Amino acid sequence: MPLTTMLLRQHGLAVTAQRLAVLRAVSDRAHSTADDIDRAVRAEIGAISRQAVYDALSVLTDKGLLRRIQPARSPARYENRVGDNHHHLICRTCGRMVDVDCAIGITPCLTAADDAGYEIDEAEVIYWGRCPECVAATSASSGNGKRTGSVRHEPGHTALNPEQPGSRANRHQKETARQKGDRRV
Ligand SMILES: [Zn+2]
Ligand SMILES: [Zn+2]
Repeated sequence: MPLTTMLLRQHGLAVTAQRLAVLRAVSDRAHSTADDIDRAVRAEIGAISRQAVYDALSVLTDKGLLRRIQPARSPARYENRVGDNHHHLICRTCGRMVDVDCAIGITPCLTAADDAGYEIDEAEVIYWGRCPECVAATSASSGNGKRTGSVRHEPGHTALNPEQPGSRANRHQKETARQKGDRRV
């Protein structure tokens, strides 16, 4: 049985061609917008309405199979690396988004200095700056690319596949996904 099929069943979702195609599209291109995913799914399976793609994204996100990241002033992006509370770097110039692990560990960002009595289950951290390509392009054209404050984390990290067993966050991912699913349904 394909892993995507198993994932849907594990989360109590009916296995449909639309949902499978949406899952595949997101896993092939992490941090895509709904429009990007819509285009990819349409190219793959043809007859599907935009609304069906949006519905599938919403169900899969609510059930914790996908994570939605909503950067300020830009469309939401989707990814299938869920439950490990990783962070993101976004380039202000070209909009490219990459994953960055928490500097301290898997879930320490959930430990707020003062939780004010809230039961915290998620923390969103987005580092804004310029990607290496955009920094290089500016340096090349102006001869002066020095800028303070741009984020220089190495972006070489690609999205972990949550279907892969053995990732250090795997057990936690499943638990968090389930908790999220329960809470949001
Ligand atoms: Zn850029
Ligand atoms: Zn990510």
